[in-house]
Amino acid sequence: MRVCRRVCGLHSVRILLSPSVAPRLCGRWISQLHRICSYSTSQEQAPRHSMLRHLTSKIKATGPISVAEYMREVLTNPVTGYYVKNDMLGADGDFITSPEISQIFGELFGIWCISEWMAAGKPKDLQLVEFGPGRGSLASDILRVFSQLKTVLSGAAISVHLVEVSPKLSQVQAQCLTGDQSQVSASENEPAYRTGTTSTGLPISWYRRVDDVPKGFSIFLAHEFVDALPVHKFQKTEKGWREVMVDIDPAAPDGVDKLRFVLLPSPSLASAALTQVDEKRQHVEVCPEGGIMVQQLANRIVEQGGAALIADYGHDGTKTDTFRGFRGHKLHDVLADPGAADLTADVDFSYLRRMAGDLVTCMGPVSQRVFLKNMGIDTRLQVLLRSCADQSTRAQLIQGYDMLMNPQKMGERFQFFALLNHRRLVTPEVGEGMKKRRGMAPLPVAGFSELGLK
Ligand code: SAH
Repeated sequence: MRVCRRVCGLHSVRILLSPSVAPRLCGRWISQLHRICSYSTSQEQAPRHSMLRHLTSKIKATGPISVAEYMREVLTNPVTGYYVKNDMLGADGDFITSPEISQIFGELFGIWCISEWMAAGKPKDLQLVEFGPGRGSLASDILRVFSQLKTVLSGAAISVHLVEVSPKLSQVQAQCLTGDQSQVSASENEPAYRTGTTSTGLPISWYRRVDDVPKGFSIFLAHEFVDALPVHKFQKTEKGWREVMVDIDPAAPDGVDKLRFVLLPSPSLASAALTQVDEKRQHVEVCPEGGIMVQQLANRIVEQGGAALIADYGHDGTKTDTFRGFRGHKLHDVLADPGAADLTADVDFSYLRRMAGDLVTCMGPVSQRVFLKNMGIDTRLQVLLRSCADQSTRAQLIQGYDMLMNPQKMGERFQFFALLNHRRLVTPEVGEGMKKRRGMAPLPVAGFSELGLK
């Protein structure tokens, strides 16, 4: 499934941006094909797992835990968390994502970053900040575009900042992006836990939290990141909203620990704080960490300039119960063998928009199909095919395109959502190289309308 060989494209990218073509140009996808396959109804007893033991002792000590706490422990517990100890991406892992499927995906993200940097008046410093970079493929494709378009970016002091909770994946990313040009920080007190130089010669750093990323004009990217953040689940009852919790199943045979969902009999702090009075749905999932992240990004965009692009599978406030597990590209019971499978919930973009408030302008969500079309994916595919003679690579490029764009695959389920500085859409910022744009309409926001780099 993975397009292993990135087709080189110096010439191609130039063509993509050439004035004659430019006006026409303007997904953790868990392989849908794989994901929708068999729901595992296997009754086999999961091996007694240290994560399960940890969770059951916790529940025995303090009572049922929220789904958010369950998800946080299972995914990011510093010792046994799923993300902390695994490289779960790719054909041999549990799921595969768009950047792993096609190089074009990351290349178009690269163009988006440059487009927003230009629209902001080409500020001197450009921080590329990616949340949850997986294997580093997206960043690698973006950096190749940056390197190929260095004349466009000339004058920009570019640095790369990765927010990654997993020491294991940070190593994989470092290998992909720097070769062996990175080192773990000497002191725990450093904001960055790893630093280095990318293969294209840029400074790169790894952080656990976005708060640790230096201030400055930044383009923030989060692809298949927010879906991995913990959600609370609430059920509407005759007595009002009640939180769904995870408890030990008393019906399990002696000596066997098994988990089950229970509903709290009375409101919890979370059910009171996180549900809306006018909510029409009977069941909702709320991701407060996603909300906080959006507020942090919005504040930084207002204070230091920049933009954020969040891409994930999700909905605009319509879906209900989307919490699920994936293991080996198949659905997996979320409560079985915790720590052995990925846990995820669709991103509620209406909630992210609400949390961003009036601080920034929100764009989208628009479907991946629309976004990539507007970014010029068709032209890019044709350019790559023209420069590629190898039949199997050509077939992979076409297959990858279909996977990303087909509405039955990733084209409709994946959504793109952006946070922009209000000034971005009012009057063009006038900076170096932008003087001619004074008084003209702002550049269209690439992806949300056709790319218009000139
Ligand atoms: N963006 C990549 C990988 C998606 S998987 C891609 O599209 O291929 C989710 C990524 O987010 C992994 O790198 C995981 O380790 C990271 N992650 C999950 N929860 C995190 C958290 N709370 N803080 C930082 N990184 C996290």
